[in-house]
Parts: sequence; structure tokens; C-alpha cells
Amino acid sequence: MKYNIEKINEIGKLLVEVVEATVNQEGKEEIRIGDIEMVLRESLQVIGQSALKQFLEQADGEAEAEIKCSCGGKLKYQRRRKATIWSVFGKVGYRRAYYAGCVCGTGCAPVDRRYGIEPGQVTAGLAVLIALSGIKESFDEGRKWLKEYLLFEVSENTVRAETQKMGKLQLDADEELVKEMQDEKCLQKREHSQVAAPDILYGSVDAAKVRIEPRDPQEKAVKDRETWRDLKAGCWYEGEGVPARQQSVRQKDKQQCEGVVLRAKNKKYFCDIAEAKEFGKLLWATGCAVGADRVRRLVFICDGAVWIWNLIAQYFPQAIQIVDWYHAADRLKRIAEQAFPNVEERHTWLHIVTEDLWQGRVEAVIEACRLLTNKSCWAKQSLTYYSHNIERMRYAQFRATGLIIGSGIIESGCKQIVTQRLKLPGAQWKLDGAILTAKARTAWMSGNWSKLVSARSLLPLAT
Ligand SMILES: [Zn+2]
Repeated sequence: MKYNIEKINEIGKLLVEVVEATVNQEGKEEIRIGDIEMVLRESLQVIGQSALKQFLEQADGEAEAEIKCSCGGKLKYQRRRKATIWSVFGKVGYRRAYYAGCVCGTGCAPVDRRYGIEPGQVTAGLAVLIALSGIKESFDEGRKWLKEYLLFEVSENTVRAETQKMGKLQLDADEELVKEMQDEKCLQKREHSQVAAPDILYGSVDAAKVRIEPRDPQEKAVKDRETWRDLKAGCWYEGEGVPARQQSVRQKDKQQCEGVVLRAKNKKYFCDIAEAKEFGKLLWATGCAVGADRVRRLVFICDGAVWIWNLIAQYFPQAIQIVDWYHAADRLKRIAEQAFPNVEERHTWLHIVTEDLWQGRVEAVIEACRLLTNKSCWAKQSLTYYSHNIERMRYAQFRATGLIIGSGIIESGCKQIVTQRLKLPGAQWKLDGAILTAKARTAWMSGNWSKLVSARSLLPLAT
């Protein structure tokens, strides 16, 4: 944006006078930069309020005796009516022409409509900042943060409402996408458009438990055990090598022994609290949006829950399926701990079997576990786990093709949504609230926030 810098400098000079007068008035012995900044911030805030008020009142212009109503009828000028909004500068009151008297019974303030203002509400500019605090922290913490940043208070309820409004926009976008990708015509139209799909695309899916408050005492009595619900989350991403100078110590070690260190980029998360069947539609739709149905190689890395593999087989039968390396290897550690009280024996066994797994010799791993079934119940359980996933554990083959073999992306995704937000101390969720907050947070994690910001600024017009 280009400003008239001379005018801005004039305003700056005037502001210095205000700041000096205010600081001197306080009569402090020692004035520090922080004091000056604070006075400046507060003054700028008041200037913002005053300017916004003047802007809206000027934009309102001359009132007309009569204007057209959106119903086709006529609205008559009433008077300049006062309205209040909460903007990024705080509370702003202004007067604008108000029209009423149409047969349809609605009234209208043209200036509000023109700028997408809802009287009595927060402006779109403030709403997105409030929502940002609400996806990051508990609503009450968010409120406290905002006070430091904005220098005025909003209520915890406002933080909740604005966060969930953003979540609702993501929910609407998700539903729209699901509808589109179920529609044969839409899919065909997309076939002909040349949207570039990456060479290799990864997908991961996982779930984490969220506690949902029962809706009423009756439900509480009946369904107490069902208050924990699965939040299902997925991520689409691409892989890229980590440049040597950006590698951590751990990654440098990895580079040494494996030759390559890959990380995820262009991460697109999606989530819902829904049955697997419903979630499958979202998996398909979000997948089509990033070209999962047309990439040369589609790879799923998951921890091994059966419902996940079933969905993948249903929607993306062509995909390469990989059991997350860390889950598969971690199991061996647990088995070793159970089976070998002697540390040395434990390490020897673990070293050999982990190497077998690393080389994709799953049959050898199964055999090694079979020999321990009388010493470890984990070993017994793991026989099924490893034999059901033999083809998903050909790690040497996967590595040779340059594929990522760990699902850390989705685990960190679930952690960011559930552990770091939905499970914060004192959090109590209604089902809708949990879904909307989670969806708003995934939009941020996926770099989709700006889309929601645009949609949010159009909201008053849509209602
Ligand atoms: Zn009307």
C-alpha cells in the first residue's frame, strides 16, 4: 500500500507533541523506551477509533429521502442512527443514515452493508485476530493474550464464538469439497483441467481421543462411557531432502547411515469427529483436491489401525501402504523388555531383530517373536501384527525407492490439534465446539488461514 508519506509525517509530528505532553504529565523520574511505546500505542489506538468513526460517517454521505429495498420495495429515510462496532482499535461508535418502512419489514443502513459491518459485533479484521488466539490457547488464555496485544478486553465467549465461526467456515468448505468430489460431472471436469500433481504424494491418517461433555443429564446417565470420541485426522504431504546445512545432529547421523534425510512439505491437514465412513468421504475429497487420484505414486504411512487401511483400500487401492517404521520398531523394544530381564541379552536380540525389520525381512522378525511367545505376551500379540503387515513393512525396498517410512507428520498433527489444544486443562467440549475448533486449527496448520480470512470478511453479506 502506498501512503502519502508527507501527510503521515505531519501526523507523526503532532503525535510527538501528544506523547511528550503525556509522558511529562506522568512526572516519572526516568523515562524508558517502553514507556514511550506504550503511550504511542494507546494514542494510535484512539487515533484509529477516531479515524474509523470519521471514515464511516463521511462514507455515509448525504441521506436520500428514499432508497430501494433488497426485496424490490422502498425504504424511507428515518434518521442518523448510532451503531457500535468492535474493531482492531477497540470500540467505535458512529452515526449513519438508517432507512425503514418497507412492506417487508426490514431496515437498512447502506454504509454498514457496503463495508460488511454487523452493528454490535466485532469487525472481520478483529475477528480473525481473536480466532487466532482461540486456536492457539484455551479461550480464556486467548483472551488474556489478546489484551496484551490489543490493549483492550474481549470476553472469553467472544473468543470462543469467533474461533468457532472460523471453524464453521472450514467445515462449510470441507462439506462443499466432499459434495463436489462425489459428483461425477465435477470429477470429469477436473480430469480435463491440467492441475499439476506431484510425482510422489504421501498420505497419513491417525486418531486421538477427545472428551466430549454429554449434552444433558439424561444423556450423561445413559452414555457415560461414550464421552470419549475419536478425533480422526489426516495429512497430505510431499517429501523433500533436508539440505546438509539445515540438518540437526540427529539428522546428520541419519544422513550418515541412510544416505538421505527426508522431511515433509506442503502439508495439508484435515480432521473430523465422525464415523470412519463419513471420514472416508473427507479423505477422498481432500485427496482429490491435491491430486491423490492422479499422482504417479501415492504412498500411505500409518500406524496400522484396521479402519484406516480399510478406508485407504476402498478409496485409493493403487496406493503403496507402509506401516510407520517407528511403531513397528517400537514394538520390538517392548517385546525385548518383557522377554529379557538380562540387559545384554535384551540388547543383542533387539539389535538383530531391529536390523531384520530395517532390511524388510519381516518373516525373520515373525520367527524371532514366535520363539518368545512363552516369555512375552507382547510377542504373542505381535505375531498377528507383523504377519498382517508383511507387505507394508518391506522397509529396505521402500527406502531404496526413496520413500519416507515414518508417519511423524500425522502424529505431530494429532498432537497439535488434540494434545496442545482440545486436551488443555479445564477444557470442556460440546461435540460441535470441539469439531469447529479443531477444524479452525487445521486450517492454520495447513496454511489455509488466509482463505478463511477472506470468507470471514464476506460473512455479513452472506447472512
Ligand atoms: Zn423490503
